[in-house]
Amino acid sequence: MKKVKFLFPFLFLTHVVFAWGFYGHKMVNRLAVFSLPPEMFAFYKANIDYLTENSVNPDKRRYSDTAEACRHYIDLDHYEKFLPIDTVPRKWNDAVTKLSKDTLLAYGIVPWHIQVMMQRLTYAFKEKDLEKILRISAELGHYVADAHVPLHASENYNGQFTNQHGIHGFWESRLPELFSTDYDLFVGKCYYLNNPLEIAWEASEGSFAGLDTVLGFERKLNASFDESKKYSIEYKGQTQVKVYSKEYAAAYHQMLAGQVERRLKASILTVANMWFTAWVDAGQPNLNDLVKDKKQTKPSDEEMQQIIAEEQRLLNENRMIGRDEK
Ligand SMILES: [Zn+2]
Repeated sequence: MKKVKFLFPFLFLTHVVFAWGFYGHKMVNRLAVFSLPPEMFAFYKANIDYLTENSVNPDKRRYSDTAEACRHYIDLDHYEKFLPIDTVPRKWNDAVTKLSKDTLLAYGIVPWHIQVMMQRLTYAFKEKDLEKILRISAELGHYVADAHVPLHASENYNGQFTNQHGIHGFWESRLPELFSTDYDLFVGKCYYLNNPLEIAWEASEGSFAGLDTVLGFERKLNASFDESKKYSIEYKGQTQVKVYSKEYAAAYHQMLAGQVERRLKASILTVANMWFTAWVDAGQPNLNDLVKDKKQTKPSDEEMQQIIAEEQRLLNENRMIGRDEK
């Protein structure tokens, strides 16, 4: 999650913008479980509800912990102004030397925080500390998913510099909520990452590369769309909320040509890859003795595609029932 911001200040509703929204984060962690190898699957599947629910902890923690916010993003467009982003040192110590720790904290540290979480998860696996494995897996999943959101790579994170206020929640919450049941989120088997830090950087750079699309297409659509149809009113519990209309969202989603789906898929696969890599680096501890129900065998790929489609449908249904959470 990024800094506190007003989504629609003219309605005097204060909003905090959550990356991927609660719904997206839950989906990423939940579906990542199905990409794990059989040696990990039983343990993660047995705890899939915990991994789902706790995927949003880092955003909740932001209220009580001032050090939290900068872990969720990196403003690569800030660095691009002064030096090409590929000259930002990838390693933390080198980056501190070149740019200063204050600068790094000011513009976000998500790739480095993913690395820290990887080290913690590897240690938790070595210790076979069940509680820690699950908590860190859930939170690592959050940061990895955040790194895949284009607006988490920009100082203009909510379109505030380009008169596009609200675009953050529009792209990462409203669009997945409206359209993700039609996505194909089966990502296949996860694999080992030789350099997780580099992969975290690739996620942020991929987000940076998608910024022009996210901002540019919305600007273009806004210029041609009937202003009176851009927003609509929906009810969240008893509260009236002004949202981007379904019509406007559908037009934007079409212009993005699968971008949200691609970033969601990349998030899911990278989360599974990170979990798997930490487990391998810890010496592949036997997780089956941590599971009570030992009958959880991994379904075949064909079965898996159906299971994932059903998971997507159920998650979306639950979101409808539990709308008040946001
Ligand atoms: Zn976040």
